[in-house]
Amino acid sequence: MGLTREELVEYFAQMGEPRYRADQVFRGLYQRRLRSFEEMTDLPKALRERLSQAASASKLTVESSFTSVDGTRRVLMRTGDGHPVETVFIPSEGRDTICFSSQSGCPLKCDFCLTAKLGLLRNLTPGEIIEQIVVVLNDVYGVGGETPHGTNLVAMGEGEPFLNFENLIKSLQIMSDEEGLHIVPGRVTVSTAGIVPKIYEFAKLERRPNLAISLSAANDKLRDKLMPINRRWPISDLMKAAKAFERTLKRGERFTFEYVLLGGVNDSDRDAAELAAMIREHRLNKVKVNLIPHNPAEQLDYFPSEPEQVKRFKAALEAEGISAYVRTPRGRDIYAACGQLAAKSVAVASIAAGIVAEPAGI
Ligand code: SF4
Repeated sequence: MGLTREELVEYFAQMGEPRYRADQVFRGLYQRRLRSFEEMTDLPKALRERLSQAASASKLTVESSFTSVDGTRRVLMRTGDGHPVETVFIPSEGRDTICFSSQSGCPLKCDFCLTAKLGLLRNLTPGEIIEQIVVVLNDVYGVGGETPHGTNLVAMGEGEPFLNFENLIKSLQIMSDEEGLHIVPGRVTVSTAGIVPKIYEFAKLERRPNLAISLSAANDKLRDKLMPINRRWPISDLMKAAKAFERTLKRGERFTFEYVLLGGVNDSDRDAAELAAMIREHRLNKVKVNLIPHNPAEQLDYFPSEPEQVKRFKAALEAEGISAYVRTPRGRDIYAACGQLAAKSVAVASIAAGIVAEPAGI
């Protein structure tokens, strides 16, 4: 788990096995979504035993899975060394979306985010990143079951993806393989809190996913407080990087600014005007703004904006010719919504919301 198809071929060559065995295992891991060599019954028994001793088809154990009243699921897993990994499945009439984690915990200290309270536990390996998708698809559709709606991925779970850049890009490369999960880069969005040098690096990638930049304030004073990474790379640097990225977009492509709306903090008419002015000043023409109503949690001192104010904020951007969308909160009751991932244990989340956790038999 976590090797590209070519690396797997190389691995099997070193074992003295032919290429088609590597292809079988690759399909077993990612198409049939099997998490042990034992289940790959198309391999000879002796080879399965050899593989089980020498390698690993699974890096994560599933601890619990929660299902929200709106159908959203949050799966809590653990790495081999015991760190939490959380993944969220968001069903919709069109495509399903899976929100996956790139790190266990997060080193950035965004003031409105529960994951920040965990601190950074560690970067996830490519295998640990990919297995989240395998586990969640199996959880929802059964082991190897068809995924009738297709899958969009967003790197918006725990962690700052651009601080685990190489592992993230490698895992996306493996996930895009047509012999495997076949989730192409166009179906993937990577969300950064603003690691400026990596935005430039990302822009240069040949087959790259979509980009979202988490903004949440249009002036440095407020953004310094809400997202302390801004002290390292202030808004002017971030906007230059955004503009450089925008120049690489093809016709019809756009990138996204994410803006978490915090009641009475960054959601006034003035804040909306400031955001519009900033976008205009930097001549960003291929950007859309996703407005994310804050998801409350007891350890955070913030509140969601009034629905009326959310509408006003959106309308103010649109009046300036900027596309703006309001993201419907999903999975709040199971601590699955944006900014709520903090490895909440079965007891805390299920008792608080009266939700029954399903046994971890995935
Ligand atoms: S919002 Fe994202 S980058 Fe900020 S602390 Fe939370 S997980 Fe980390």
